[in-house]
Amino acid sequence: MKAEPLFNLDPSVKVRTRFAPSPTGYLHVGGARTALYSWLFAKHNQGEFVLRIEDTDLERSTPEATQAILEGMEWLNLAWDHGPYYQTKRFDRYNQVIDQMLEQGLAYRCYCSKERLENLRNEQEKNKEKPRYDGYCLHHAPENPDAPHVVRFKNPQEGSVVFDDAVRGRIEISNSELDDLIIRRTDGSPTYNFCVVIDDWDMGITHVVRGEDHINNTPRQINILKALNAPIPTYAHVSMILGDDGQKLSKRHGAVSVMQYRDDGFLPEALLNYLVRLGWGHGDQEIFSVEEMIKLFELTQVSKSASAFNTEKLLWLNHHYIRELPPEYVAKHLAWHYQHQGIDTSNGPALSEIVVILGERCKTLKEMATASRYFFEDFDHFDESAVKKHFKSGAAEALEKVKEKLTALSQWTAEPIHQAIEQTAEELGVGMGKVGMPLRVAVTGAGQSPSMDVTLVGIGRNRSLARIQKAIDFIKAKNA
Ligand code: GLU
Repeated sequence: MKAEPLFNLDPSVKVRTRFAPSPTGYLHVGGARTALYSWLFAKHNQGEFVLRIEDTDLERSTPEATQAILEGMEWLNLAWDHGPYYQTKRFDRYNQVIDQMLEQGLAYRCYCSKERLENLRNEQEKNKEKPRYDGYCLHHAPENPDAPHVVRFKNPQEGSVVFDDAVRGRIEISNSELDDLIIRRTDGSPTYNFCVVIDDWDMGITHVVRGEDHINNTPRQINILKALNAPIPTYAHVSMILGDDGQKLSKRHGAVSVMQYRDDGFLPEALLNYLVRLGWGHGDQEIFSVEEMIKLFELTQVSKSASAFNTEKLLWLNHHYIRELPPEYVAKHLAWHYQHQGIDTSNGPALSEIVVILGERCKTLKEMATASRYFFEDFDHFDESAVKKHFKSGAAEALEKVKEKLTALSQWTAEPIHQAIEQTAEELGVGMGKVGMPLRVAVTGAGQSPSMDVTLVGIGRNRSLARIQKAIDFIKAKNA
């Protein structure tokens, strides 16, 4: 039987992988890791990566979930070469193949009633046999061929299915374990496993990378491919991701949706680096740029055992990338958070400057946006405990003096600002903190910020001086 490829398959492409999510929810980290491995393997081999949306479960699939998955893939920058293809748009194709299989005797109509199947199952259970269809309709012609029926694949009776899983090694399943799978329901709709087979065939998929929860489908799918004389792809079943308590990763453990990580202030590079290491490694290397991942990734080095999610390590990686990636690039992601938090950044320092100033202190971009509000917006209140600690009686004098010096500066840069603070302390005969801390509270509103010189540069001259004056007035009023 000849497949009609969906797109013109380039014969020079030797590796073609796919990611085939079911759009029943957001893109979760497990799915994202599968997508990443599949994508990396394609890129490593100069191959192509196909995105396919398995939306045949009409009750559970939603367009919102499809959008969420596409959004997640785009945010992670896992670009696909073909697709997204939608299974719901391919029902004619699936049915065409089923009709041909019926003609060729590779499949048959089954008219068995629910009751008969139930009785059969009960009987088998009673005899401690594995429940499976007994092939009744293969040998009994129906009274009325047009009566409601399903179509079953004629699974081989003898022998076994053997395949070499790229991750798990050789796997062998006896055909006696496999049922005559229903490939078309009574309502005429093709079933899940069948659609996957036809898609992988039509799309020229050479390597199927997917979650280990699909491992039981593989022998059935291979049998159908064989019956169709289609090439059998290499399969690679990736193990599960567990939470830090050893249970299957779920919402209980924190964020599981890729976009939630964006919302929480992670960079896609950090999440990708984290996910690639979760079940794959190259020596004891921890940091991988995407280029490096592509260069080094091998399916055969993917771990067979489940991996446990570790948020601390992800945070560590995020902090690394916040500091190591070009500030202009990090700033683009940071911009989203300002917008999200309703902070107008049009009046203030360049966002790349914020990345440089706060990179050391902030492990997430969300935190960075929150912590840098004062660079862009004036505030109405000083933090209460900071006021108690740092706006004591001598503070007004220190601020007046330092303001005088700052006002006189011809250049608003870190070095002269630093000197102005230092000189103020010297002249007053106090430690730097006695000047720096009131100044910090004056210009940022609170007792924590990066060093005063770069902070003042970022806030800008006019704004800084105005805030210092406001603080002086506040202290004087308070102590009056
Ligand atoms: N649609 C399946 C899922 O989301 C994946 C099937 C496959 O990769 O073969 O779990």
